[in-house]
Amino acid sequence: MTLRHPTVTNPEPTDEELLAWLDETVSLPRSAQIEHLVRQSTELQSRLNGLRQTRQSGALTLGEIWRSHRVGCFSREILARYARNEGGAGLSEQIRFHLETVECVWCQAVWESLSEDDLSRTDRVFQTSAGQWNHQDGTH
Ligand SMILES: [Zn+2]
Repeated sequence: MTLRHPTVTNPEPTDEELLAWLDETVSLPRSAQIEHLVRQSTELQSRLNGLRQTRQSGALTLGEIWRSHRVGCFSREILARYARNEGGAGLSEQIRFHLETVECVWCQAVWESLSEDDLSRTDRVFQTSAGQWNHQDGTH
């Protein structure tokens, strides 16, 4: 067991980090740090228990945490657009990277939760843009 004190490189985890840690979605090194901190701190342990209870009661949703803290992530609307192939080349590339390479669990969760409704907006928008393309082709 190492006794290297974690304080400097090891800031106290935020609530969101603790939740992510419970979900095993933090990076491995950070996960080890948090585990270490939690073991040492009864205060953290009680925060963790509190968070667990809050989450079980449904007060803290994945989406809320994600919206406020995962700035590198994509909104549901953007992901839905990507699902409908409306992201555009650059954005689609970023999203694909984020989902498939980064394997962001938050966005994957949103991705998997995209409903029929999110995707059914497809047709209308697709038809609209298809019409525009046709028009552009015609004047070209
Ligand atoms: Zn993400």
